[in-house]
Amino acid sequence: MQITMTKRDEIARAIRAGHRALLFAHVMPDGDTIGSVLGLAWGLRQLGLVARVACADPVPAELHFLPGVDEFAPRRPSDEDLIMILDASDLSRIGDLYDQERFAAALLINIDHHVTNTHFADLTWIEPRASTAELILDLLLQLDVRLDADIATCLLTGIVTDTRCFCTANTEPATLRAAIRLMDAGASLAQITDAVFSHRSMDVIRLWGPALCRAVLSDGVLWTEISQEMLRQANATLEASNGLVNFLSTMHEARAAAVFREMGDGTVDVSLRSKPGIDVSGVAFAFGGGGHAQAAGCQVVGELAEVRERIVRALQQEVRASLEAPERIRSVIERL
Ligand code: AMP
Ligand code: MN
Ligand code: MN
Repeated sequence: MQITMTKRDEIARAIRAGHRALLFAHVMPDGDTIGSVLGLAWGLRQLGLVARVACADPVPAELHFLPGVDEFAPRRPSDEDLIMILDASDLSRIGDLYDQERFAAALLINIDHHVTNTHFADLTWIEPRASTAELILDLLLQLDVRLDADIATCLLTGIVTDTRCFCTANTEPATLRAAIRLMDAGASLAQITDAVFSHRSMDVIRLWGPALCRAVLSDGVLWTEISQEMLRQANATLEASNGLVNFLSTMHEARAAAVFREMGDGTVDVSLRSKPGIDVSGVAFAFGGGGHAQAAGCQVVGELAEVRERIVRALQQEVRASLEAPERIRSVIERL
């Protein structure tokens, strides 16, 4: 009988044979990429590997409570035999830390849950779970790592942030089972939710006020924008706009929501959300980004107004097509 190895088996085997690992979180990091990298790093160290962590961008303040978070730096590979990129669907997601020569010397592993994954690594394990952190939990259990409170806190933070505290449509019984397992191992759900959701700074209030005032609802798409001028006037950093798109997407008539952020380097960061039944990952992918059906994003070169117009139009088309599809099916059935 032939025994087929899953991607997870292959990654577990590579880790068992490995010595030094460099773990990358994606640019503009969120709780899932940071929590997954830290949780895996602690697990690898337990197994005797040297594990270092890297990210091109600073870790947002609400994640500074995570054990080991101070070790993040915009580092490049040196003498590692394993390079692992977590929660990222393509190589551009590690920003300018990619370096062909140094990456070629190591085994490149990618663990991710985005439907738009481009399979760029030597070994890719992708599963459409609610968070990458759940995949890391499965991997650590397979490797017989003892879950301690530090590992559990990092991984539960990944689940809680990507599911907006178990509220997103992709939250499954398996997500809750993983969370229970992590709480049993010592993670405090109350501490995590308090840290990530309840410490907004006053910048946020000053920035969201004007941004909400200029929000526009048009053909089922609710959008707003954050310009460099708005940041100056609110005396706020870009970080203060995190979460705004989630808030917009709670509005009743919004089938899709978008926030356009002028990054100040000639690019616009686009965050997209949608109600179940509308898939925004295709629009993000078409503009060079990626993500999930209900949460996706891209970074586009161009002027704020011009990028916004192109993407709002694409979103409106997506909303229209999704609303028309069941209508078309119904009329075909009626004609039968
Ligand atoms: P955000 O709106 O930044 O919270 O991103 C929503 C989802 O889209 C997250 O899962 C991101 O990892 C993903 N995403 C955002 N930008 C990109 C991109 N340029 N390429 C691939 N995925 C992205
Ligand atoms: Mn992420
Ligand atoms: Mn994720």
